[in-house]
Amino acid sequence: MALRVGVIGGGQLARMMIAPAVELGIDIRVLAEDEGMSAQLAATAVGDYRDLETVRRFAADVDVITFDHEHVPQEVLRALVADGVRVHPGPDALRFAQDKLDMRARLTELDVPQPDWARVADAAQLQAFLDAHGGRGVVKTPRGGYDGKGVRVVSDAAEAADWFADVPAGDALLVEELVPFVRELAQQIARRPSGELAAYPVVETVQKDGVCAEVIAPAPGVDAEHAAQAERIGRVIADGLGVTGMLAVELFQTADGRILVNELAMRPHNSGHWSQDGAVTGQFEQHLRAVADLPLGETTPLKDWSVMINILGGPAEAGMLDRVPAALAASPHAKVHTYGKTPRPGRKVGHVNAAGADLDTVLSQARASAAAFA
Ligand code: ADP
Repeated sequence: MALRVGVIGGGQLARMMIAPAVELGIDIRVLAEDEGMSAQLAATAVGDYRDLETVRRFAADVDVITFDHEHVPQEVLRALVADGVRVHPGPDALRFAQDKLDMRARLTELDVPQPDWARVADAAQLQAFLDAHGGRGVVKTPRGGYDGKGVRVVSDAAEAADWFADVPAGDALLVEELVPFVRELAQQIARRPSGELAAYPVVETVQKDGVCAEVIAPAPGVDAEHAAQAERIGRVIADGLGVTGMLAVELFQTADGRILVNELAMRPHNSGHWSQDGAVTGQFEQHLRAVADLPLGETTPLKDWSVMINILGGPAEAGMLDRVPAALAASPHAKVHTYGKTPRPGRKVGHVNAAGADLDTVLSQARASAAAFA
């Protein structure tokens, strides 16, 4: 009987697991939040992932549960595990991707390089941190942030007053030093429940307005020592936190050559989309292999350079699909991936991958194709 993998969440990450699942003969099923989601092709249920009974019903018909996002509550995950369901990543790992304060505390224990940080429960504690760090810092809501929402650079504690007002009693905000980074990197690594690891080359991510715009793999100009350091960080986190499936570690590189951890994602991640068309094993296939505890695939790049460009917003959905032929015509090398989402300004609705021997050529091919959606 085919192995049944259940994915909670019907977004583009679940959608992009469908093709490799079909190839591997895996029966993929999706619990979607709504009708008409990106992964509707495999959506066998629609319901609220915060509701234990809904999730239990979905889990009853699959062999392994995994995720398109990190928002399934701990209580729900722990109840599934208590029911005997195989959940990957499990709640003990996932909590460090759900809560940035928990993550910072655990990475401190693991001695992983990261920005100076503190848990601040009120404006006075925040101001003390800012005073000790050159008068500026980055305040973050520990939970629920994405694409730069829930991240604010401040130079006075008063600038976070509205967030403190919303913090539930007993909770706190995270503050970090404002890292003078020269660029952002990301390290992808897969880990099976049995412990096997497979690391991808470290990549550069280029953000615009807090949203990932482009990824270049491998990170241009990265020396062997930094590449090895990024991989080591990925391994320490994957093993130390007991991650199963794909792990993405977002990193800062500083002018003085340090590599610091920004945050973690325990699922396929935007910074790994290049691997779909640029590596022997793409991250979506690798995630399925890892959560199903199947042997992992090689991560070697197929070409010297791979580039991924996100398609943000653009014309309404029908209009977007009308532009696919132009995107294909603009560059026969580029691979177009659409998410079946209704475009809104700034919303990720697809991406373009390209790979080849010359970085400038690959970048212009991918950009030419992506420009057809502008
Ligand atoms: P999100 O969870 O919304 O993706 P992140 O924690 O990744 O939020 O932060 C979003 C962006 O804000 C980062 O990509 C980076 O550009 C900037 N940023 C976050 N933390 C810091 C920091 N400590 N120092 C400097 N810039 C930061």
